Amino acid sequence: MKRKILEYLICPACLPEENPLRLGHSQSSGGEISEGVLECGGCRRAYPIKGGVAALATHNVSSSPESLRYEAPDFLSAYLWSHYADLFEDPDATGAYSEWAGQISPVAGAALDAGCAAGRFCFEMSLKCDLVIGVDLSESFISMARRIMEQRKLSFRLKEEGRIHSERAFVLPARWDSSKVEFIVADAGALPFRSGSFSCVASLNLIDKIPHPLEHILEASRSARPSEAQLLISDPFSWSEAVCSPDRWLGGAPDGRFAGAGIDNVARLLSGEDRPGAPAWKIARRGAVWWKIRHHANHFELIRSLFVKAER
Ligand SMILES: [Zn+2]
Repeated sequence: MKRKILEYLICPACLPEENPLRLGHSQSSGGEISEGVLECGGCRRAYPIKGGVAALATHNVSSSPESLRYEAPDFLSAYLWSHYADLFEDPDATGAYSEWAGQISPVAGAALDAGCAAGRFCFEMSLKCDLVIGVDLSESFISMARRIMEQRKLSFRLKEEGRIHSERAFVLPARWDSSKVEFIVADAGALPFRSGSFSCVASLNLIDKIPHPLEHILEASRSARPSEAQLLISDPFSWSEAVCSPDRWLGGAPDGRFAGAGIDNVARLLSGEDRPGAPAWKIARRGAVWWKIRHHANHFELIRSLFVKAER
């Protein structure tokens, strides 16, 4: 983990109290901490840094069967394809990440990508911000994203059919700046960052994959600066009872607090209706991005991710 991330960190278990994390015994070289412990002075909890990966979640990803899906090798390589297939000129690749990045105006300060998976959006954001932090609850995703950040290239096995796999390889474009990018394991519903840390916050295809979507939106808003901030939320709103109890869905219900379409309810939440006192967001733009997941050579999921771009 890059040492410059330390100033942003607080203990996620102590929220809403914001207790800073102090670096205990550690091994580091230059600005990189390879091994160590981050300690909370409030609850005394200790969070490990192992092999450069800081694990700042209050619970383990392997605790739920649904999240375990994200640790499987074929699932990881399917996400690598979704994030990087345009770099090896796959004819079926989408331009989704460039489209999402195109919604963000260059801005001074730090950016956060909540649910960064294999890291593509963070690299795109290195062109727009001074620092980019990607977080994901999956250790496999974060380890892979850090490996891509460090090595700037990757070969990986992609499923073709059944037990047949083939190799793919890509190199990061030189203009994407790894020195501005960091990835850490964290929960999008309890972000380990001080309030007002980020001038840009993104949440791409995450809202329908987590058990507490409302808490995530409030956390995304809390971690963004109170003014001169941008927020991009994009999701297909594929609500699933396996992931999130229907009483916590932010849409897809015929009646109740979040009746109707998720994207409308997200826009309404950001506009401040449900959260008096917080600096409300102004919806600058709404739109859609086509995104694909590749399961094997002949099986793709085509996803329309609806987005709101908000500013305050
Ligand atoms: Zn604590």
